[in-house]
Amino acid sequence: MDQQPAITLVHGDITQQHADAIVNAANSSLLGGGGVDGAIHRRGGPEILQECRALRASHYGKGLPTGQAVATTAGRLDAQYVIHTVGPVWSRTEDRSEQLASCYRQSLRVAAELGARTVAFPAISTGVYGWPMDDGARIAVRTVREAAAAPVAEVRFVLFGEDAYSEFERALAKQG
Ligand code: ADP
Repeated sequence: MDQQPAITLVHGDITQQHADAIVNAANSSLLGGGGVDGAIHRRGGPEILQECRALRASHYGKGLPTGQAVATTAGRLDAQYVIHTVGPVWSRTEDRSEQLASCYRQSLRVAAELGARTVAFPAISTGVYGWPMDDGARIAVRTVREAAAAPVAEVRFVLFGEDAYSEFERALAKQG
């Protein structure tokens, strides 16, 4: 069986991280947005958007579907790649957990294909998309734990707020 990646937690801004791949909580347009997405494009510069536009003009004419992931350059970020993934919007009436898990799984698959050893993730869907942080953390940790991700050796969750950090800490303590 593949060796599983080490999971680390850090407080901070994902655009300040050094990693082989930085995951973006994008929206399906791939053309930018708020939160992590806005910060990545602001700090990473126009090259990222240029590649996103090219993706829209080729493989993803209708946008990137929820739960899928695709890589571009990382522009001026201290990384080789940005992996864009589209989280589900939280729903009270419909269980979209599998789509959220898919974001982590597909991003790791893309990272592994690119030969990335370190991958930084934000807490996907827990901002504008409204996913409760405790459940978002549980799904993130469980999915990464279960994913066979070689050659990815480190998955780093980069967490903005106090609440995000403590929920991920709790999920990690529970799930090992
Ligand atoms: P989504 O639309 O998937 O909910 P958001 O970008 O709105 O994505 O938020 C996802 C999570 O990332 C939230 O918990 C938010 O607080 C956090 N976040 C926002 N900006 C940053 C950043 N620069 N670095 C790391 N996390 C961030």
